[in-house]
Amino acid sequence: KAEGYRNFPMVPRVVFGKDSFNQLGDILLPKRKHSDAPFIFLVDEVFEGTDVAARIPVIFNDQIIFVSAEEEPKTTQVDALVQRIENDHSELPSGIVGIGGGTLLDLAKAVSIMLTNNGGSAAYQGWDLVQKPSIYHVGIPTISGTGAEVSRTTVLMGPDKKLGINSDYTTFDQVVLDPNLTQGVSKEQWFYTGMDCFIHCIESLNGTYLNAFSQSYGEKALDLCKEVYLGDLTSEESRDKLMMASWHGGMSIAYSQVGVAHAMSYGLGYLLGVKHGIGNCLVFQHLEEFYPKGVQLFNQMKEKQGIILPKSICAELSDADYDTMIEVAMGMEPLWENALGKSWRSMITPEKLKAIYQKI
Ligand code: NAD
Ligand code: ZN
Repeated sequence: KAEGYRNFPMVPRVVFGKDSFNQLGDILLPKRKHSDAPFIFLVDEVFEGTDVAARIPVIFNDQIIFVSAEEEPKTTQVDALVQRIENDHSELPSGIVGIGGGTLLDLAKAVSIMLTNNGGSAAYQGWDLVQKPSIYHVGIPTISGTGAEVSRTTVLMGPDKKLGINSDYTTFDQVVLDPNLTQGVSKEQWFYTGMDCFIHCIESLNGTYLNAFSQSYGEKALDLCKEVYLGDLTSEESRDKLMMASWHGGMSIAYSQVGVAHAMSYGLGYLLGVKHGIGNCLVFQHLEEFYPKGVQLFNQMKEKQGIILPKSICAELSDADYDTMIEVAMGMEPLWENALGKSWRSMITPEKLKAIYQKI
């Protein structure tokens, strides 16, 4: 890695406010290249047939593609979407708009990159491998927590690894933060995805990479999470605050790194397809040793919200399965280094990780 401080991109334009989604048509208009260069809306399938879908400003030959968020994004899925868009339209689109949670936001980012870069998306998983600027892309979160709306990565499951396309071209050109879009989220999912934000804060604030930049965003996000999950806000206040918590949590890790829960959650995701938010929760509850105060707070939030996490996820696994998860988790070197410092290998052994996985 190059020496020196990172010079990373931020989202250049953002709208915040209830029903700001209604301004989308006006926002896109100046970005339309001509009537044959459509906007492609990648939209979470949960919105099919709803009022949200009806309010998408489709004109000319724009296209709405509904995508299931049942499974996390894959490189093959990105490549198939790009192929479909290329087949359906004679011109490169004016832009891509992702409407949904982290899954749809990441798909929108990846598709916008792959419309201008050759080959398959798996070749770009890693750091700064993208050669050409992506097309204009807009992120519209409908559930809060991942920080995918601000980050410079899009996390994809590839043929042999789950890894982000981390690049300056990944970051959205425009984000629309409309807290009202998060209204339909189930309580469980609201907790799991919100805890992704909480865990970003704990891992960033307790990491060795911490600096004033990350700390300023991380502390604000952590305070907001506490207000939302331990306070007595109205649901409207809580939607607004969690949306901003997600933003700040994402900014906090942009200039630091995540830690133990994320490394181990990647292992669960890779082997069992356990999704990011719930995977983080399943691991985090057993990390008192690394994050004593954070785990205590997590348990308070879980109690207050009446969430019961699933149990015995790893009960039936073979030794080879454990080895796979451990290998994936231990491969996330920057995360361990952030969590425990340069000598992390003296503290983290396969046996230790296995003992934690066995509790899950
Ligand atoms: P998600 O997009 O996977 O959605 C979770 C569930 O909530 C889905 O069933 C979805 O249909 C539903 N949902 C979303 N909005 C809804 C609404 N308004 N009403 C009803 N249901 C709704 O959830 P997520 O937790 O936001 O995203 C997880 C993904 O984000 C993972 O793929 C993870 O890898 C990725 N991620 C990316 C980054 C990044 O920086 N790029 C960071 C963290 C996580
Ligand atoms: Zn996360």
